[in-house]
Amino acid sequence: MTKHHNKATLCVQAGWKPKNGEPRVLPIYQSTTFKYDTSEQMARLFDLEDSGYFYTRLQNPTNDAVASKIAQLEGGVAAMLTSSGQAANFYAIFNICEAGDHFVCASQIYGGTFNLFGVTMKKLGIEVTFIDADANEDTISAAFRPNTKAIFGETISNPGMNVLDIEKFARIAHKHGVPLIVDNTFATPINCRPFEWGADIVTHSTTKYMDGHALTVGGVIVDSGNFNWDAHADRFPGLTRPDESYHGLTYTKSFGKMAYIQKATAQLMRDFGAIQSPQNAFLLNIGLETLHLRMERHCSNALKVAQYLSENPKVAWVKYSGLPGDRYHALAEKYMPNGTCGVLAFGLKGSREDAIAFMDRLKMICIVTHVADARTCVLHPASHTHRQLSDEQLIEAGVAPDLIRLSVGIEDAGDIIADIRQALGE
Ligand SMILES: *Cc1c(COP(=O)(O)O)cnc(C)c1O
Repeated sequence: MTKHHNKATLCVQAGWKPKNGEPRVLPIYQSTTFKYDTSEQMARLFDLEDSGYFYTRLQNPTNDAVASKIAQLEGGVAAMLTSSGQAANFYAIFNICEAGDHFVCASQIYGGTFNLFGVTMKKLGIEVTFIDADANEDTISAAFRPNTKAIFGETISNPGMNVLDIEKFARIAHKHGVPLIVDNTFATPINCRPFEWGADIVTHSTTKYMDGHALTVGGVIVDSGNFNWDAHADRFPGLTRPDESYHGLTYTKSFGKMAYIQKATAQLMRDFGAIQSPQNAFLLNIGLETLHLRMERHCSNALKVAQYLSENPKVAWVKYSGLPGDRYHALAEKYMPNGTCGVLAFGLKGSREDAIAFMDRLKMICIVTHVADARTCVLHPASHTHRQLSDEQLIEAGVAPDLIRLSVGIEDAGDIIADIRQALGE
């Protein structure tokens, strides 16, 4: 399978390439270990001198096939699966930042990532500056410091539904000699490939659309292979200087365009161990096989629901960048001309209690702490996912206290709208 295949074909076929007589379907390599004939062979693997499997914490054939499928879908050179989206974003930053370093991040991001970056990573001595992603280039540039190592944003922010101007962010990143890392969870590579707009590294919570059935928690980091670490060697010594924990191996010298993912595997997976289980990778792969079909339906359903809500007098506001007139519609048209995602946000006229009462009246649509799977679901971030955030932080993260997050599934659009209609008391 090559990058020249279309995304629909990659979804179904990429990654697992059986040899003569091997299983047609990706098998689950349910084994922690792999067998070698000589001690010498095993030693070479440990020194990263040979490639091969030896322990599933580092690499597993099921995981590698799925990572390869996602890398091809994103148009990247390499990918690594992680146990969750949180682990993916943590590793993506920690792979190039250490104590004393700093990075810049759009403030409109997923609450879990906001907390990871702003609170937990600070305890490791890594500082973040949150900026308004819609600010102009000079304002965002002013947040950079000599020790800044990356800039981070979400293609479509969860749950604020802001669309990132990826080209603007890439220009700012590259002007400062750092990579742009984009969390592409909501758009998926079906609707947007951030690498085509200058992003260097992409992350996902595969828990969402990629799995698509709400079966497994997982994440992935994909590298475009485009960032020239050696051109900024002093800024990224972890990649460009010898690694004492690997007998003085230098990642950029030994692995070229694969350096970033090799380092993430060899150091971060080795030491922190947030692997995705091969079972979960197998299930994720089944989800990926229909990602292109599901995204189309998620988007067309969500647009119908967004239109219905925007015309309803009981609804105060709707945020869905697929909707003409949305603040981010022009950016969505540019970066996601075939559709954005199935998630939208809206507020009802009335109090916060009215929002909660509306949600409780829904019948088919369930209240769950999840988004982006086949079943339509709803959540009130201020009382659920984002409840650790203060009102000030909520607003900074683009989450109005009355915001209802609706994740439109792939059921019949008429049935989804009918449930909302009855919950609105119509
Ligand atoms: C859910 C989510 C995450 C965290 O992923 P988990 O798989 O739940 O750890 C990160 N980023 C975005 C945009 C998300 O929606």
